[in-house]
Amino acid sequence: VKRIAILGSTGSIGTSALAVIDAHADRLAVTALAAGRNTARFADQVARFRPGTIAMASPSALAEVMQALDADVASGIRTAGAGRTGLVDVATCPDADLVLCASAGTAALEAVLAAIAAGKTVALANKEILVMAGALVTDAARRHGVTVLPVDSEHNAIHQCLDGRDPTRVRKLILTASGGPFREWPRDRLARVGPGDALRHPTWRMGPKITIDSATLMNKGLEVIEARWLFDMPEDRIDIVIHPQSIVHSLVEFCDGSVLAQLGVTDMRLPIQYAFSYPDRWDTPIRPLDLTGAGRLDFFAPDLDRFPCLRLAYEALQEGGSLPVVLNAANEVAVDAFLAGRLGFMDIARLIEQAMDAYRSERPAAVSTLDAVRDLDAWARRHTADLARGLQLKR
Ligand code: MG
Repeated sequence: VKRIAILGSTGSIGTSALAVIDAHADRLAVTALAAGRNTARFADQVARFRPGTIAMASPSALAEVMQALDADVASGIRTAGAGRTGLVDVATCPDADLVLCASAGTAALEAVLAAIAAGKTVALANKEILVMAGALVTDAARRHGVTVLPVDSEHNAIHQCLDGRDPTRVRKLILTASGGPFREWPRDRLARVGPGDALRHPTWRMGPKITIDSATLMNKGLEVIEARWLFDMPEDRIDIVIHPQSIVHSLVEFCDGSVLAQLGVTDMRLPIQYAFSYPDRWDTPIRPLDLTGAGRLDFFAPDLDRFPCLRLAYEALQEGGSLPVVLNAANEVAVDAFLAGRLGFMDIARLIEQAMDAYRSERPAAVSTLDAVRDLDAWARRHTADLARGLQLKR
């Protein structure tokens, strides 16, 4: 039995991961869980899966969960610390074989590095970790001989296409993108998009942050950066094609011109199960892909003019250094402001570009330690929040 620790168990990926564990109870067990603030759902999960160790974002949320549990369940549970300490505790839990990082945002970076240092296999669903600290994380994994398995569907697809093949024979990686809900909208209409429009994604059901990122195509931009680190591939050999049906999850082109693709239904339980079963494959209760039912598969080039976030992500990668940290932090602040109704849809890219320009003129030093990454992340958030107030005044 493989013992799994999950960072972010109450979110969309965490919930799907528990469903996978449930469907394979003979091969998988939950050993530790960490969640943010959803105490009701977390208490249900803890009662159902009986992890040995649990953590939440705050001590009060943790206490609330412990109180909601039956005494016999609660007595078998060790409560880890709160916040970042709790995440590290869960990620380094001695009996965990694999740590799934599914918490949104950047709080889990330290926990992922701790899991790697403790020799755990890491399944990574959180792309911000690699965007912020791709070099740190992949260096650490190499040093500790730890496998990092991508759960993000595109990177999972590429991992499946590459598996066992000589990486020097790869010509390029091709990431597919659904194009989001505004794929065909003209620029003037995009300017009037509100949070409600952007939260309706055509093919994937996901949390709010990633759904907005899919609408701006920043999600794909972050995925280019993620792919650069996961597969050690320069950005000029990572292409994007818009594929509205989301059936081809990504492709790899080899030096002989052959292109391998991975196809499947749009259900995150599939890449999660692949990571849990790797290098084996297991049966699944999920319905199979029906190609004739899908009918046709379309592919288009992305429009960098209507979706400037994608261009900004390539720029951040090209210029190197720590610009991706700024891009990521500014994007989180901008998406929050958009969801709160304080910014327009096209202001998201505008704000990120302003933050990147500010970094270029004020803070050009590259960062190479966890503390330096965290400092730069904090600087970019403060700076972007100030810039957001400026944009808001002009609206
Ligand atoms: Mg993805």
